[in-house]
Amino acid sequence: MSDQRHVISRKDYKEPDFFVEKVELVFDLEREVTNVKSRLFIHANPARGTGVDDEVFLHGEDMKLVSVSINERRLASGDFTVDQEGLRFTAPREAFIAEIETQISPANNTRLEGLYVSQSAFCTQCEAEGFRRITYFPDRPDVMATFKVTINADKSSCPVLLSNGNLIDSGDLDGGRHFAVWEDPFPKPSYLFALVAGDLACVEDSFKTVSGRDVALRIFVEHGNEDRCDYAMDSLKRSMKWDEDVYGLEYDLDLFNIVAVSDFNMGAMENKSLNVFNAKYILAKPDTATDMDFELIESIVAHEYFHNWSGNRVTCRDWFQLSLKEGLTVFRDQEFSADQRSRPVQRIKDVAQLRARQFPEDGGPLAHPVRPDSYMEINNFYTATVYEKGAELIRMMHTLLGPDGYRKGIDLYFDRHDGQAVTCDDFAKAMEDANDIDFTQLKLWYSQAGTPKLWWEGDYDADAKQYRITLTQKTDPTPGQSDKKPLHMPVSIGLLGADGNDIAAKTVELTEATQEFVFDGVTEKPVVSFNRGFSAPVNVMTDQPDAELVFLMGNDSDAFNRWEAGQKYATRLILSAISNFEENDGNADAALNDVAVAVDAFIGAMQATLLNDGLDKAFRADALVLPGEEFISEQRKPANPDAIHQVRNALRKRIGVALMDDFENTYHQNASNAAFTPDALSAGQRALRATALGYLVASGEARFADLASDQYKASDNMTDQMAALSVLNHLDHPGRADALADFENRFAKDGVVLDKWFALQAMSSRDDTLARVKDLMGHPAFTMRNPNKVRSLIGAFAVGNPRHFHAKDGSGYEFYTDRLIELDDINPQVAARLCAPLGKWAKYDDDRADMMKAALQRILAKEDISRDLYEIASKSAAA
Ligand code: ZN
Repeated sequence: MSDQRHVISRKDYKEPDFFVEKVELVFDLEREVTNVKSRLFIHANPARGTGVDDEVFLHGEDMKLVSVSINERRLASGDFTVDQEGLRFTAPREAFIAEIETQISPANNTRLEGLYVSQSAFCTQCEAEGFRRITYFPDRPDVMATFKVTINADKSSCPVLLSNGNLIDSGDLDGGRHFAVWEDPFPKPSYLFALVAGDLACVEDSFKTVSGRDVALRIFVEHGNEDRCDYAMDSLKRSMKWDEDVYGLEYDLDLFNIVAVSDFNMGAMENKSLNVFNAKYILAKPDTATDMDFELIESIVAHEYFHNWSGNRVTCRDWFQLSLKEGLTVFRDQEFSADQRSRPVQRIKDVAQLRARQFPEDGGPLAHPVRPDSYMEINNFYTATVYEKGAELIRMMHTLLGPDGYRKGIDLYFDRHDGQAVTCDDFAKAMEDANDIDFTQLKLWYSQAGTPKLWWEGDYDADAKQYRITLTQKTDPTPGQSDKKPLHMPVSIGLLGADGNDIAAKTVELTEATQEFVFDGVTEKPVVSFNRGFSAPVNVMTDQPDAELVFLMGNDSDAFNRWEAGQKYATRLILSAISNFEENDGNADAALNDVAVAVDAFIGAMQATLLNDGLDKAFRADALVLPGEEFISEQRKPANPDAIHQVRNALRKRIGVALMDDFENTYHQNASNAAFTPDALSAGQRALRATALGYLVASGEARFADLASDQYKASDNMTDQMAALSVLNHLDHPGRADALADFENRFAKDGVVLDKWFALQAMSSRDDTLARVKDLMGHPAFTMRNPNKVRSLIGAFAVGNPRHFHAKDGSGYEFYTDRLIELDDINPQVAARLCAPLGKWAKYDDDRADMMKAALQRILAKEDISRDLYEIASKSAAA
C-alpha cells in the first residue's frame, strides 16, 4: 500500500545521472516466455551532482532477471540489487556497456502495457512507462537513445516482424524460425519503442514528400480486413500533405507503418514510424462504420502522424510536460479536420466535447492543471484537461498571435528544439521570442486548474455612439489550489444591428479581474454575440433574454454562436421545467406547460434553423440536437437524472409533434440512392435526416417507429442503420428485437462492429436494461480482457445511461463497482479510467451521493488495489 501512495512532484525533477546513447535489443518471441537481451551504451551525465552519483538505476517491473554484465563481466548477485521498482548497480566508469537478459510473458500480460499478445499477434505499448516491463532501462523521456532491434520468431505464426526505423537485415533461422533487424536512426525515448510480430495482412500505398522523397505507407491488419483500410490510408496521405502545407513539416523516413490491434488501452500510439492503433480507429467500410467512425479515423490517424514532429522529433522532458505534445497535437488535428471538413461544425464538435468531458473534470475532485504538479500514476493523467484544455491553450496562442505569428513561433520551436526533450515553458518561450511578446500571464493556463467564469455587462451610449462592455472573470478553488489569479484570454465579440448584420466585431484581450472595452461608431443599440468561436474556453455566466437568443440563432454571422444561442435557450428551458418537475408531481409535460410561451418561441427558432437552406446540413443537424443529459446534469445541483431524462424527452416530443410535417419532408428530401461516400457533405445530409427521424419517433406516432424499422432493413450503410437502431433502441417496437438480432448475426465474428451492439443495449432507457447488461456479460463475444468490450458494455452503461446508472435503488452503482473491482486485477489502467463517473457524487442528492461514496470506499478496501485505481478512487472519495 505504501508505494501506492507515493506521490511524484514536478518540482522534484532532476536531470538523469546517466544517459543511454544506443540500445541493442534481441527478442526471442514466445507467447509464454519471451527472452529479451539488451545491450546499453551508457555514459554519465557530465552535469550530474556528486555523492551517490556512481549508482546506476534502471527501471524494471514484473520481469525475471536472468543476468547482468558490465563491460562483458557478469555481475555476481552481491554486485547489484533488484526490487519492485528496478535494478541498481555501481557504474565502473564514465562510459560503459551494460548487458541485461530478462524474461517476460506476453500471453499473461493482461494489463496491455509492455509486450503482450492481441489475437494471434505480439505487440507493445510503452507509453508512458511500459518499456520497464520489457527490460531494465532508464524509462524516462529525457533519456533518448538510438535503437537497434533484432526480432526472432516462429516464421509460420509470425511472418511479419516490425519495429521502429529501417529494416536493415532479415533471414531464416533453424527450427522454422526467422529474424528481422530494425534500426531507428532518430534518438528517441523508450516510450516510443514498438515491436509487432504476427500473421498480418498488409495494405500498401506511397506518398511523395514535398522534397520529392517516396515514402512507403503500410497498414497491417488481421487477414480479411484488407478491404477496410482505404479511409485510414487516405487520411494518412492527407495528413502528410497538410503538415507540409500548413506547418512546413515533412516526413523523415522512407517508410511509415500502422498496425491495427484488437486489444488496446487507448485510441492509438505514435511510436516512431510504427504507429499502433486500436482497430476501431482504422477499420472502416460503408457497411461496417458510421460517419462518426470515419471522422474519428481521420482525426486519430492525423493525430498520431502529427506526433512525428510534435512529440517524437521534439519530445517531453518529463511526464508533467505531457501537454507539450498532446495539447499541441490535438490542436493540430482539430485544425486539420476543420480544413478537411466544415470549420464551424468542427468547432462545435470540439467545444461540445470540451464541455462534456473537460469542464466536469475541471470542476470535480480530479481537477488538475494542464501541466500537473504531482501524480501517483501517470497513466491517470492522459485526461481531457491535458489533451483538450491543452489544445485550447495553444488555440489561444494562435488567436493572440494570428496565423503568421503563430507559424513564426512554431518554426522557431522546431528549429530550436529538434532532437530534444523539452518543457511547456520552452514551447511558450519560442512563441514569445519569435513574436517579441510576453506570455507570462497566459502561461497561468498551464498551472491554474478550474474553468474560469466570465460575466459581461453592456452599456449603450446613443449620443457618443459607443458601446461599453465590462468583463469580469473569476475562477473557483480546485483541490489544492485555493487562490486563483485572473487569466489572460482573447474574447471575440460581435455587435449585431436590428437587421441582423454585424455593426462591429473585435477580439479583446482580457487580463484583469474586471475590465472595460469600448466599441466606437455604434449607431444603434446592438445585440451582443459574446465569445465568438469560443475564443476563450470559459463558462459564460451572463444570461441574455430569450428574444436575443432567438435573434442570435437566426442571424449571428458566427456559426458557432448561432449554435451556442440554441444550446443556451434549450438548457434554460429544460432547467426551468426541471425545477417545476416536483411541483408537477413528476409530470414532465405539465412542467413544460409552465414555460409554454418560451417553449413555443424556442420551437419557432428551431423550425427556422431546420428550414434555412443557407445553412450547412451538418450544422443544422447539430443545432437541432438538445444538450445531452450529462451536460444538463452539470448545470445545477443536485442533479436529478430521472427528471432530466423525462423533461428532455418531453421537450423532444413537443418539438417532434410541432414540426412533424417539416421533419417528415426533411426526412424524405434527404434520402439518397447514391453509393455511400464518407465525405462531409454526404455525412451532413445523413445526419440531418437522422435528426429528423429521431424527432419523428420522439413524437410518439407509431408509424414513425415503423419507419425506423424499415430504414434499418432497407439501408445499405452502417450510418443509416445505426441511426435507425439507436432510436428503436429505447422502444418496445418489434423492429427493435429484429434489428438487434439481425445485427448480432451479421457481425458475430466482427469484434469492432459488434461493440456497437453491446453499447446500444447498455445505453437503452428501457426498464430491463441492467438485467440485459448482466446477461450480455455472458455473451460468447464478451470478455473483460478486451478494453473495447469493457468500454462498450460497462463503460457505456455508466457514461451513456445516466438514468440507469444512477437508479435510485443503487443497483447501477453496485453492478458497476463489482465490475471495477474485477477489472482492476486484469487491467488497472482501464479500471482507473472507468472509475471517474463514481467521483461525481457531489452533483447528486444525498441518497445517491452516499451510495456513490460507499462504492468508492468499497473499491478502496479492495486487497492489492492497483496504484492506478487507488489514485482515482481516493481522490474522488476525498473531495
Ligand atoms: Zn497524442
